[in-house]
Amino acid sequence: MEVKDIKRKLISVCGPISPEELGFCQSHEHLALSRGRSWEIDPNLCIDDVEKSIQEVLLYRQAGGMAILEAQPGGCNRMTEELVKISERSGIHIIASTGFHKLRFYYEDHWIFSRSQEELTDFFIRELTEGMFTDADTIFEGNQIQAKAGFIKTALDSCGLTPAYRRLFLAAADAARTAKRSVMIHVEKGSDPVALLDFLIQCGLSANRLIFCHLDRACPAPDTLLALLEKGSFLELDTIGRFKYHDDQAEARIFQDLIGKGYEDQLLFSLDTTRARMKSYTPGAIGLDYLLLVFLGRLRELGITEEQIRKFSHENVLRSLL
Ligand SMILES: [Zn+2]
Repeated sequence: MEVKDIKRKLISVCGPISPEELGFCQSHEHLALSRGRSWEIDPNLCIDDVEKSIQEVLLYRQAGGMAILEAQPGGCNRMTEELVKISERSGIHIIASTGFHKLRFYYEDHWIFSRSQEELTDFFIRELTEGMFTDADTIFEGNQIQAKAGFIKTALDSCGLTPAYRRLFLAAADAARTAKRSVMIHVEKGSDPVALLDFLIQCGLSANRLIFCHLDRACPAPDTLLALLEKGSFLELDTIGRFKYHDDQAEARIFQDLIGKGYEDQLLFSLDTTRARMKSYTPGAIGLDYLLLVFLGRLRELGITEEQIRKFSHENVLRSLL
């Protein structure tokens, strides 16, 4: 679909926004994350100082950023009211998510393990259409606010579609069909995203409403990337400024290569920042503005045009979500 023909609105935490209001958008970030099971596993998975998060987002705005897809789903330490506050104070559009993360990020007594598939579908739909729950880390369908989630975040773990994950993906697919919202997928190293894509298509979802994330570090084999793109899915690439995987030149060449194969309308980018990579939390870190201030330069050096950059940061975000 041509972007100019999109009539639907995006759902940000401060209300609906029209496609032309979006601006430069990084498609997979974490701006506020409370201390929970994920923090016990990795201390960088705690981003709980709202003032610091606001500072970071203001730097992003100064560099030209305007919107962010927030990838922490409800019930998994998403700081829901804080996301509203960060958006109000910074003027940045934040599009929040419902859904589920890797199950190791939840305590054993979390409702995600005990609620039925239908109840999980209901939770996701309510977050998308009525408003998000603020106390979902501990309570199922407790306190709800007006701010709504704008998409469904899911996670494909290395164990694949075990019965526990199958149930979650079925619930997410039902909610996506009912609420007509897109599904973002965290892809873990060692998993099979192509098999998941086939499964979600069998569940009645369209490939062009699916965003597969982190492939550039999780499953970098070109065949996997191309198989997902050939079927029409979006890829969110974010191994940027992450030098233990590869340098930015190598990352820029992935974009160049996929553009050369005709896929510039299906690529998104972001940094997937954690505490360790935000300047306001970790002095000397690359910061949320790194993509704008540094990485775009690497893309331009390879001849990637402003129009193509606008697609990754803006038009493809709209195509993938609306
Ligand atoms: Zn993430």
